Amino acid sequence: MSTHRHDVVICGGGLVGASLALALAHLPLDVCLLDPAPFAPPARADDRTFTIAQGSKRALNALGAWPRLSGGDFQPITEIEVSDRVGRIGLTHILAYEQGVDALGFVTGNTALLAALYEALDATTVTRRAGRFDGFIQDADAGVITLACGQDGERIACRLLVGADGTHSAVRAACGIGVDCHDYGREAIVSNCRVSRPRPFTAFERFTDNGPVAALPIGDDRYTFVISRADGEQWQALDEQGFLERLADTFGDRLGRLLAASPRLRFPLIRQHAREWVAPRVVLIGNAAHTLHPVAGQGFNLGLRDVAVLAERLSEACRAQTDYGDRAWLADYARARRADVAYTTRFTDGLVRLFTPRLPALAAARGVALNLVDALPGLKRALAVRTMGLKAPLPKLFRGIKP
Ligand SMILES: Cc1cc2nc3c(=O)[nH]c(=O)nc-3n(C[C@H](O)[C@H](O)[C@H](O)COP(=O)(O)OP(=O)(O)OC[C@H]3O[C@@H](n4cnc5c(N)ncnc54)[C@H](O)[C@@H]3O)c2cc1C
Repeated sequence: MSTHRHDVVICGGGLVGASLALALAHLPLDVCLLDPAPFAPPARADDRTFTIAQGSKRALNALGAWPRLSGGDFQPITEIEVSDRVGRIGLTHILAYEQGVDALGFVTGNTALLAALYEALDATTVTRRAGRFDGFIQDADAGVITLACGQDGERIACRLLVGADGTHSAVRAACGIGVDCHDYGREAIVSNCRVSRPRPFTAFERFTDNGPVAALPIGDDRYTFVISRADGEQWQALDEQGFLERLADTFGDRLGRLLAASPRLRFPLIRQHAREWVAPRVVLIGNAAHTLHPVAGQGFNLGLRDVAVLAERLSEACRAQTDYGDRAWLADYARARRADVAYTTRFTDGLVRLFTPRLPALAAARGVALNLVDALPGLKRALAVRTMGLKAPLPKLFRGIKP
């Protein structure tokens, strides 16, 4: 039986795992990225659209992934229009120039971004292994953890195992770490549509009585619509024309007529947190540690901040020759991530709760809240800074510096 040896094994080569592999690539560490799916995006990723915060773009730029996107692969967002349901007051605009930035964020595709991350990894010495993590054994005295992966009994020994294997993390389960999970009882329905009156570089977040609807510009006359609904199955069953009509009723005519829709994708909406983010020689990041409602487009952006802080700390550990699998070191990392994850979760969850109720009093409060945000520049600025991923203190990567 063969045993491969590495310093750090990242289990999960999704957006977060691949970003961490890149962030560690220039450190004096032997890094392995493990995933059962091929490291070739079209064969593995749904072509979902993501909003990338301004801060995350800086980080992806420093990692060498962003420059590999072609001009057509992303759209800057210079304006976000947030409104209550059609025909009710409550409207706020967040404008890039008011915030002193060229763009509030960017819209890009899952496939394009993964391809850019893997392409950047080609220029590094990070080992990519095809394999599914199946469990591990600890050798506390030797300071290593040995993973089992694949049916042929392949083993990998490392000093630190990073679980970046998503919401249903096998690494988390193998550590016996439980989760707190809230099911919103809704699904996100995602479809790309053509519209008759596009508003270039403008994203829309519309809160309706039945849940939020986001429209993200993806170039020319095309928008990605993300609709959060309890009756997702019914929306899925509609033919294209029926879907476009129902979407128009829900979203209104801000973008003119809706002309054509791509096949719909559906995603269950949950909020989930691992009860611990670390265990001896193990750390969980990205969706393995925390899964959010996509309403504010924060999930990957938050995972990327895990990456930035972990990479910075590993860089310091390499310089100081500290044991980065050590309990105290890991606990310190977890402490460093607590406030950001707690705030981002509260912010996302608060939006969902405030903007989904059907009680008339709360519906009126939503309109007032939106107008208040519009009227108070300080409040708007605070909201924008958070959603742009620019809240200080920023880890080095979010300042455009490799750790
Ligand atoms: C509808 C929707 C819209 C969203 N929009 C946004 C947005 O606009 N902005 C934003 O920031 N976030 C958004 N998110 C959230 C974002 O999708 C996630 O936060 C992000 O993809 C998590 O990445 P990850 O790498 O942690 O996990 P994943 O993408 O789930 O990757 C996990 C990886 O682990 C691998 N894996 C699984 N099991 C094993 C195993 N046993 N061994 C080895 N490897 C394994 C998988 O193959 C996969 O490659 C959205 C989510 C949804 C559902």
